[in-house]
Amino acid sequence: MGEGMTQRPRVEWAPEMLRYDFGRGHPMAPDRLALTIDLAAELGLLEHVDLVAAEIADDELLATVHEPAYVAAVRRAADEGVRDEARGLGTADDPLFPSMHEASARVVQGTVDAALAVWRGQRTHAVNITGGMHHAMPGAASGFCVYNDVAVAIRAMLAEGAERVAYVDVDAHHGDGVQAVFWDDPRVLTVSMHESGRSLFPGSGHPDETGGAGAPGSAVNLPLPAGVGDAGWLRAFDAVVPAVVRAFRPQVLVTQHGCDTHGLDPLSNLRVSVDAQVLVARRLDELAHELTDGRWVAVGGGGYAIIDVVPRAWARLLAVAAHRDVAPGTTVPQAWRERVAQQYGREGPDRMSDVAEPTFRAWRSGFDPSDDVDRAIRATRSLSFPHLGLDVDHD
Ligand SMILES: [Zn+2]
Ligand SMILES: [Zn+2]
Repeated sequence: MGEGMTQRPRVEWAPEMLRYDFGRGHPMAPDRLALTIDLAAELGLLEHVDLVAAEIADDELLATVHEPAYVAAVRRAADEGVRDEARGLGTADDPLFPSMHEASARVVQGTVDAALAVWRGQRTHAVNITGGMHHAMPGAASGFCVYNDVAVAIRAMLAEGAERVAYVDVDAHHGDGVQAVFWDDPRVLTVSMHESGRSLFPGSGHPDETGGAGAPGSAVNLPLPAGVGDAGWLRAFDAVVPAVVRAFRPQVLVTQHGCDTHGLDPLSNLRVSVDAQVLVARRLDELAHELTDGRWVAVGGGGYAIIDVVPRAWARLLAVAAHRDVAPGTTVPQAWRERVAQQYGREGPDRMSDVAEPTFRAWRSGFDPSDDVDRAIRATRSLSFPHLGLDVDHD
């Protein structure tokens, strides 16, 4: 493949992805994905990526992370309507639906395909906005997540010889499932920046969670207080994420872009703009070019403001991966807005941006011990930085 070909991001997409559907009234409506792809198309972005349909992951692949008995339980739950609350199946968060196994396994295959395309050098960047099921555990569904596509994809790269994989999760919720899978694995750094478990599901992700016995420092957690907006969120990212990822010297970067950090999201209490989310995506793209020869696998995740936020956030994520982010102030294409009005009987957003240019103060300019965000950053730096040979106080 020529240089131009490998530079075009691979994007895992097929209408079958919309079958991951917990049903009416559930926050994780598949419309959010359809609206995103539709918006990306209207913006002309799909001309700069290659859409590839994923198959359904087989049991052998799922078993690299999931207990076979759990996979059997998902099948039974879906086929026969048998709830298994001990395994998180048929709960309020994860109600049963007919194609639950197939739809969830297809998401897994999408992220595995994306990861292997990048690991094998076929693509520099690959994106699966349908992935990012970071709460799924080896033996249980949790928090709208059935199978952990991210963990299976990382395991697939390890199986092909990867020795250092960095995972960065900027969803509003702690990336507990991915952290749990790699807790004792020094080959995988999991970094999660999220709203504190004191105010938000799943309750974990405290700064003293730094990795298991064989892997000290392989988990980094940056919990932030409820209410944090762009300035605090970007300051926290800047003060922790680039430093720990650089120190780990990854061969490939995997990032989870849950956009439920947004101020309009109904499930979290953060107040981040689409523009700050995009700025972080750009920083992660830059980190990949700096550290991993550009090897970057990006996935979606949470995001429940399905009209106002998700389509813009992830259309712009695709744009960042294609190195074609839209200019600030770009208007949302009229055709997309008209379809939203028709389908939902309400107005969609009219700009691709929320703010002109999100700003923040860099950590190196000093910190304020009485500020909640600065105290959170300090806690994470104090507990995680020494493991990675980094200076707690100075950048
Ligand atoms: Zn790039
Ligand atoms: Zn989330």
